[in-house]
Amino acid sequence: SDTTGPATFDGCGQLADGSAVPLLANVGGTKDAVAAAAAGAEGVGLLRTEFCFLGRDAEPSHAEQAAAYRGVFDAFAGKKVVIRTLDAGADKPLPFLTDSTEPNPALGVRGYRTNLTSPGVLERQLQAIAAAANDSSADVQVMAPMISTPAEATEFASLCRANGLNTPGVMVEIPAAALTAASLLADVDFASIGTNDLTQYTMAADRQLGPLAALNDPWQPAVLILVKATVDGGAGKPVGVCGEAAADPALAVVLVGLGVSSLSMTARALPAVSAVLRSVTRERARTLAALALAAPSAAQARSAVREQLPLLD
Ligand code: PEP
Ligand code: MG
Repeated sequence: SDTTGPATFDGCGQLADGSAVPLLANVGGTKDAVAAAAAGAEGVGLLRTEFCFLGRDAEPSHAEQAAAYRGVFDAFAGKKVVIRTLDAGADKPLPFLTDSTEPNPALGVRGYRTNLTSPGVLERQLQAIAAAANDSSADVQVMAPMISTPAEATEFASLCRANGLNTPGVMVEIPAAALTAASLLADVDFASIGTNDLTQYTMAADRQLGPLAALNDPWQPAVLILVKATVDGGAGKPVGVCGEAAADPALAVVLVGLGVSSLSMTARALPAVSAVLRSVTRERARTLAALALAAPSAAQARSAVREQLPLLD
């Protein structure tokens, strides 16, 4: 069977009724960004900035950071680029930010929380992002990973605005963030749901452990309920998804049906996701989302939705 989907994607995510669902790419640097632009991505929904500096012992300089970000912005001139501030942690350590002796790294000082232990790194990163954005025509938006509370969202938004970055957003990847979405989103302009971590933390199942893969499934009813809570709490603000869930064509339909406004994924998933979205109206996507939400298990949700769709694999 064909697991790659159609070879081409014309760079315009839309449903059968013509309504738009921007299809964006997850990238780790300029090389990825150039490839994603060639693959037709409409923009970048997640630039994982820590990938630009993996293995580095010292904080990268302002000039070095600005050059790295600028490379991605230039690959998407005139388009949207959502850049995420450093998300260092157990699975992607940055020696200048992370403590390798933490007993429980998934619950440790990671993501936005490194601002507690290394104050200054975040602000210097925002300055480098702002400098790179000023030199480029990309529509640059910045978001923070691992936001837990409305107070953190507010604090991050103020820091962004103080540095001239006027479209701050937050990732929703902790159940507490999804459950408090209404206040969490009050001071920011958008949210992006990180379903990889949201699933890990909802199910209390380390995303790196093979034996827990069935628990670590974004089709889990609890995860879908939290996606819906985030969209509902957002009260019309854009809520995208940038976890691997967005790359699963059937789940992409469900996410759109739950009200998610854009999907960001590895560029190679764009053709298959685009094709299935074009086969459903928004109303149909809502019906399929309701079907998934009503299912008692991840496996049942997946099969109930998949059998309704013209999937390629
Ligand atoms: C996520 O958690 O879903 C996400 C997109 O971030 P990362 O995979 O980099 O943790
Ligand atoms: Mg994450």
